[in-house]
Amino acid sequence: MSRFFSQKYASLTPYTPGEQPRNRKYVKLNTNESPYPPSPGVLKAAAEQAACLELYSDPDCTDLRNALAGFYGLAPDQLLVTNGSDETLFLAFEAFADETRPLLFPDVTYGFYPVLARFCGIPFTEVPLDETLRMRTEDYLKPGRTAVLANPGAPTGVGIPLAEIRRIAAADRDSVVIVDEAYVDFGGESALPLLKDFNNLLIIRTYSKSRSMAGARIGFAMGSAELIQDMNTLRCSFNPYNVGRISLAAGSAALKEHAYYEENCRRIIAERERTAQRLRERGFVFPPSNANFLFAARPGLDGEKLYLRLKEKGILVRHFTKARIADYVRITIGTPEQMDRLLAAVDEIMEEEKL
Ligand code: PMP
Repeated sequence: MSRFFSQKYASLTPYTPGEQPRNRKYVKLNTNESPYPPSPGVLKAAAEQAACLELYSDPDCTDLRNALAGFYGLAPDQLLVTNGSDETLFLAFEAFADETRPLLFPDVTYGFYPVLARFCGIPFTEVPLDETLRMRTEDYLKPGRTAVLANPGAPTGVGIPLAEIRRIAAADRDSVVIVDEAYVDFGGESALPLLKDFNNLLIIRTYSKSRSMAGARIGFAMGSAELIQDMNTLRCSFNPYNVGRISLAAGSAALKEHAYYEENCRRIIAERERTAQRLRERGFVFPPSNANFLFAARPGLDGEKLYLRLKEKGILVRHFTKARIADYVRITIGTPEQMDRLLAAVDEIMEEEKL
C-alpha cells in the first residue's frame, strides 16, 4: 500500500480471480467459461462494430435492452445492462443495502460478495449452509435484510427451488432479494416468473457462461422498473458508457441465435452428467449440480494437492482455501475431449497416490 492510498480502503483485501493463463497451454476448467465459441452472427456483429470504434457506445444500451426485453417478455425499463454481472452486483449492493439493511448471504457462495460488501462499506452476515451444502430457507425469512442468493449456488452448483425464492421475497416486501442467476441456463429454475408479483426481486444474469462471452463483459439485471431506475441512477453517476459497442452488438446478435446456445447448454449438461458418473466411480463426492461445473471432493485426497497435481498435468481447476471447502475443487464442464483428459489425469494421480 502506498502512502497515498485512501485510509478508507486500507484494510481492503481484493478478490482473487481464477487464473487466466496468457497462453492456451492448459485444459482450462477453472473459471466456468463455455468451451464453445460465440455463434457466427456474434462474430459478424462484433467485426462490424470494430469498424466504428471512434464513436462512443450508446449510454442507454437501447438496442440490447429492447432485445433482452423481447426475449424475456419484460418491458425495456425492467432491464439494465452492465460491464459484466460483477458490475450489476456492485450497483445492486450500493443501491439496495446499507447499515439499516445489511446483506445476507451463505457462508459458501460467490467469493466476490463479501469482498464487494467490504468495498461498499455494507455490513453483512454469512449464513452457514447445511452439511450437504444446501441453503436453509428459514435463515433468510427475517425482515430488514438484503438477501443475495446465487441460484444455482456458487461454487456448489446446488439449485434453489422457485417456491423457496418466493417465500424469501414474500417474507419482507420492503427489502430487496437479489438472485444471481449466472448459471441458471444449465438446468436451474429461474425466478423470472416471480417478477410480475414481486417489485422487490432483482435477477442478475451474465453472458459469460451459457452465452460464451466471458471476454465481452456483459451482465444485466431484470426487475421492477423502480429497482432498475435506482440502479441506473448509480450507473450514470459512476460510468455512463459502461458497455462498449462491440459487446452491445454481440449481445443483441446472440439472442437471434438462441438455438445455438441452447444446444451448447444441452451438450454441457450431458457432459456434466457423464463426468459426474465417471468421478463417482472413482470415489469422488459432490452435491448434485444444476450448473456448468461440479464441486467435487475425493476423500483421502487433499483438495489443494489435487488442484496442484492436475495443474502439473496441464489441467486447471479451481481450488478455494476457505477452510470449510478446502477439500473440494470446482471443475468446469468442458468438451467431452477435455473431460476425458481430466479423467485420465485423475486416474494417474490416484494411481500415484495409491488410492
Ligand atoms: N455471479 C456468479 C455466481 C459468478 O460465479 C460469476 C463469475 N465469476 C459472476 C457472477 C460474475 O460474472 P461476470 O462478471 O463475468 O458476468
